[in-house]
Amino acid sequence: MPRNYDIAELKRLDVAHHLPAQQDYKLIEDIGGSRIITHADGCYIHDGDGNRILDGMAGLWCVNVGYGREELVEVAAEQMRELPFYNTFFKTVTPPTVMLATKIASLTGGKLQHVFFNASGSEANDTVFRMVRHYWKLKGEPKRNVFISRWNAYHGSTVAGVSLGGMKGMHAQGDLPVPGVEHVRQPYWFGEGFGSDPVQFGQDCAAAIEERILAVGPENVAAFIGEPAQGAGGVIIPPPGYWQAVQAICHKYGILLVADEVITGFGRTGEWFGHQTLGFTPDIVSMAKGLSSGYLPISANAVSSEIVEVLKTGGDFVHGFTYSGHPVCAAVALRNIEIMEREDLPGRVRDDVGPYLAEALKRLNGHPLVGETRSIGLLGAVEIVAQPGTNTRWGGAEGNAGPVVRDRCIENGLMVRGIRDTIVMCPPLIIERSQIDDMIAIIAKSLDEALPILRAMTF
Ligand code: PMP
Repeated sequence: MPRNYDIAELKRLDVAHHLPAQQDYKLIEDIGGSRIITHADGCYIHDGDGNRILDGMAGLWCVNVGYGREELVEVAAEQMRELPFYNTFFKTVTPPTVMLATKIASLTGGKLQHVFFNASGSEANDTVFRMVRHYWKLKGEPKRNVFISRWNAYHGSTVAGVSLGGMKGMHAQGDLPVPGVEHVRQPYWFGEGFGSDPVQFGQDCAAAIEERILAVGPENVAAFIGEPAQGAGGVIIPPPGYWQAVQAICHKYGILLVADEVITGFGRTGEWFGHQTLGFTPDIVSMAKGLSSGYLPISANAVSSEIVEVLKTGGDFVHGFTYSGHPVCAAVALRNIEIMEREDLPGRVRDDVGPYLAEALKRLNGHPLVGETRSIGLLGAVEIVAQPGTNTRWGGAEGNAGPVVRDRCIENGLMVRGIRDTIVMCPPLIIERSQIDDMIAIIAKSLDEALPILRAMTF
């Protein structure tokens, strides 16, 4: 049971001492401190004010097996008693680390047979940045150091993560990107291709990658990196054929293909990985979040045997972290994957709750605020517009309609995220059909309530 916290005092101390992630500190002060989440079970989180909220975001796109898994607690405690920490710097490794690497290699399959560990998704992409450039140097093509990414991609908050990412607001803080990252258009049909044929639009977005490769010079391009479906950018699902075209372009110019599966990994799209759902084969995969269902921080890169063979020619790869392959995190991740296998959560998403979410979202079509609903597996989005049948946004509220609807949803007992003029959802993979019905009903009610608010914001 939750402890008896003094919530008012915690909020006061939050404002006084705690700097939250990706947040406006003044705003948190103005609202008197953050919402305090005290405990959780299954698909529900509970806050200090006594609210029980359906967690439509699985924490932060991560609690795939849901909250309250006792066996993850036990396996962590067992591992902590036996060996709470050891490193992988000293020609040493721990049993859970080796077993987890083996398990991940079996899930990625094919050429992705080697696994490097980090603590976060951002670190995984820092590893990509350094490993890829090092690889090309060793291969005798040192000029190949340019990464191509997409505008509005999210690859993390470290220097390499922000640089690889395509968030202009993040680039503006810290004088980023670092040199050697090129951004091209994203395959966001609703926002940027509306009215055109979606498949052709996807091909045009892939062609933009080829054009940039030619502009930069193929001999200078190291890798293309992308999320199979963009998450933090607004759950942007590329049109069919996009990834096949991207893969063909990468092959044509001998460029490495990196899939950032930090959100799309571990059953989210109905297969273990999003690239399996979308039908392409990367050379490196970044993964985190669902790897441990967020119970402990851990991330990984699955790397092709071909890349590893080249790395073997270079002596020490002087890269890695104190917590690379942390035994407690690895033990929890391993058990988390075992739970997902035992309960066939990827299959459940593919055959049952994923298609059910797609159908349920359609109930929102026809609402005066809804421009489009879309989903892949248990990753969904609702586009908020001023005129149904168009992609016209609310004039005075442009870029803010998502947060307005999100606030109504939270008030009505559903945690979703508002991204510009979209709300997105990513519930735990254990969600029941009846809970999906609840989600959709709350969104519908919240859209009704948002309508007069958006009207009032519009001039
Ligand atoms: N890549 C993607 C695709 C992500 O969604 C995220 C986090 N939302 C990251 C990288 C960064 O992960 P972390 O916050 O664990 O550093």
